[in-house]
Amino acid sequence: MAVPQRRTSKTRRDKRRTHFKLVVPGMVKCESCGELKMSHHVCKVCGSYKNREVIKQ
Ligand SMILES: [Zn+2]
Repeated sequence: MAVPQRRTSKTRRDKRRTHFKLVVPGMVKCESCGELKMSHHVCKVCGSYKNREVIKQ
């Protein structure tokens, strides 16, 4: 079995983790309910888009 020859340094480990983000890019807060939603998409939680255009509740 392959085994790492040396321990990963703190710098290398932390540099790898700079790509780990809490939320996916393109996710924004809904203007009306505050939930995370896909930008340019109707909010799944409250069904609104651009503060109006409520589809159904
Ligand atoms: Zn919403």
